[in-house]
Amino acid sequence: MSILVQNLRRTFGSFQALRGINLEIQSHQLVALLGPSGSGKTTFLRILGGLDFPDPGHGKILIQNEDVTEQPAADRKTGFVFQHYALFNHLTVFENVAFGLNVRPKHIRPNSNSIRDRVVELLQLVQLDGLDQRLPSELSGGQRQRVALARALAIDPRVLLLDEPFGALDAKVRKDLRRWLRSFHKEIGVTTVFVTHDQQEALELADTVVIMNQGQIEQVGPPQEIYDHPATPFVYEFLGDVNKLRKPGRPDLFYVRPHEIQILFASDSSADFSARIEHLFAAGPSARLTLRMPNTRETVDADITRQQLDEMGLSEGDEVGLKLATASPKAPAPAVTPSR
Ligand code: ADP
Ligand code: MG
Repeated sequence: MSILVQNLRRTFGSFQALRGINLEIQSHQLVALLGPSGSGKTTFLRILGGLDFPDPGHGKILIQNEDVTEQPAADRKTGFVFQHYALFNHLTVFENVAFGLNVRPKHIRPNSNSIRDRVVELLQLVQLDGLDQRLPSELSGGQRQRVALARALAIDPRVLLLDEPFGALDAKVRKDLRRWLRSFHKEIGVTTVFVTHDQQEALELADTVVIMNQGQIEQVGPPQEIYDHPATPFVYEFLGDVNKLRKPGRPDLFYVRPHEIQILFASDSSADFSARIEHLFAAGPSARLTLRMPNTRETVDADITRQQLDEMGLSEGDEVGLKLATASPKAPAPAVTPSR
């Protein structure tokens, strides 16, 4: 189902948590809402799901062209998964997943055989077959989040909303679940919006990344495009792994990523800067150099291949030349705050 959001505002007291959100989400997409803590991600997700509402007269939400702005959650058919497993601890896995169907009014409730079939099917989908009689306390964190997902899917939601679904899990499990969610989404194809503050997670997982900052959207696009062409200094810095460089004798500040810096011999006259290798770390096929700029005393990180490192015979303390990659599709962005 496609989602269209227009001019959405949400104010708490005098604080504007959402300051004019406009967004279009295509059917079947996996969309990441990415932003720092407090940027309004959860508020936005809750409003998408009908758990909260825009300021009166300020914002419209359409799901598949239907205006749902004032529709409560129960009528909106959205599935929710939150960071902290909201499973019922006294109910078995089976009962948890069946919950949304069991509480339906009698005239629209499936019969118990259909419910059973649906739950079995969902547990297979989230790869928990055979665990239906366990209690949540008898599952791992990752398994519990998959139960929460199965439960959200039981009602056949038009849209799936996930708020930091892996946030409480440790790094390894998180990574596995991330991959799992990717292929899972491919399989079921339901339009999914998930909130994360983890750049890597958003870039790896989503078809479209929406970058939020202070209640506004900074940029929307496919992960590659967001990474390669950050629209604002905020996006550059938030995605991480970026150097701020000052050209000698000029006031401009440039953003450049470590792989966009070429390392030349100090004697090479085509270099833009000279620098000294302060630290060198080589693992696998690439090497990271931390370089100290003599003029500004700033340090920058550069990534080069292991092969280049060996061929140039570089080591800590060496003087080298730096060149900003001209092969890069974009010029380094001056670090000026854009006007809105
Ligand atoms: P995020 O999920 O990106 O961390 P939130 O949407 O939870 O951000 O919150 C955005 C801002 O709105 C925060 O400053 C938060 O304190 C504020 N906020 C959220 N919900 C409420 C509320 N019910 N009452 C008052 N302020 C709120
Ligand atoms: Mg949040």
